[in-house]
Amino acid sequence: MPTRRNVFLFYKPTMELEEKITPLKALAKEHNFHIVNDYRQANIIVSIGGDGAFLQALRKTEFQEDCLYLGINTGDHLGFYTDFSINDINAITEAMKNEQVEVRKNPTIMVSVNDEKPFYCFNECSIRSNVIRTFVIDVFIDDMYFETFRGDGLVVSTPTGSTAYNKSLGGAIVDPRLKGIQLTEIASLNNNEFRTLGAPLILSGESTLTLKVVQDGNDYPIIGADNEALSIRHCHDIKIQLAEKQIKMLKLKDNSFFQRVQKTFL
Ligand code: NAP
Ligand code: MN
Repeated sequence: MPTRRNVFLFYKPTMELEEKITPLKALAKEHNFHIVNDYRQANIIVSIGGDGAFLQALRKTEFQEDCLYLGINTGDHLGFYTDFSINDINAITEAMKNEQVEVRKNPTIMVSVNDEKPFYCFNECSIRSNVIRTFVIDVFIDDMYFETFRGDGLVVSTPTGSTAYNKSLGGAIVDPRLKGIQLTEIASLNNNEFRTLGAPLILSGESTLTLKVVQDGNDYPIIGADNEALSIRHCHDIKIQLAEKQIKMLKLKDNSFFQRVQKTFL
């Protein structure tokens, strides 16, 4: 990383964290890195926190394709996006020195509501009813009408996001090297009137999913972009596809996706 020297640190500034970050800043300085206050001047973005903080770091820095993202965990449990621990700064320096690190590219999905400017998601985009009633969505795959969903909502996840919300919904864990998107249902109603596939559906990276909210007084669903809720009034249709944009992440070499799956769930 000889040409990448400008580092932006993303974290929630608490007294406790500031104290832990001080040695990290000193270390960065010692190795000729510059801490910048504006992420637009950075070529390395470091999130300090858990996976949730990493997702926020991506959103608040607008998914920079040219930057290298790095996740440093503050808790004791292992994260999916955080390979390093704030309590073990030596390990970070050692890993860098001994080239135990590598850059991996992770897919994102692109979502556009009512044909407006698209936004990106790293884990998933979820669409849920904002009222206690079920709501109805017509699902189209590449403009082909596929099914009418009635229930609590739908989740469309990336391969790396497949271990998050998607997993709780009985979706499949997907190897991030596969380019695709997954659609999972949240409590679908299945009866003689409404019938859905009732199984997670994995689509190729070339497919576009269109979700049309049936306008029966519930055109104000909650749209979740990873860990942020977007309030979009009069939401008619939502188009979701795999984006060209990929996020570069600095990872430990000996911590593959399936090693993390094993450590986290087995
Ligand atoms: P949160 O409600 O604080 O935590 C959700 C949990 O999921 C945390 O333990 C988080 O790790 C973990 N997580 C996040 N991304 C993951 C991934 N790709 N693979 C495995 N675990 C992951 O919310 P948050 O921390 O801001 O994370 C937002 C994510 O929560 C959403 O993108 C969604 O996937 C997930 N979520 C899950 C459910 C569900 O399972 N029923 C419902 C809503 C949202 P950390 O503790 O390290 O942050
Ligand atoms: Mn969290």
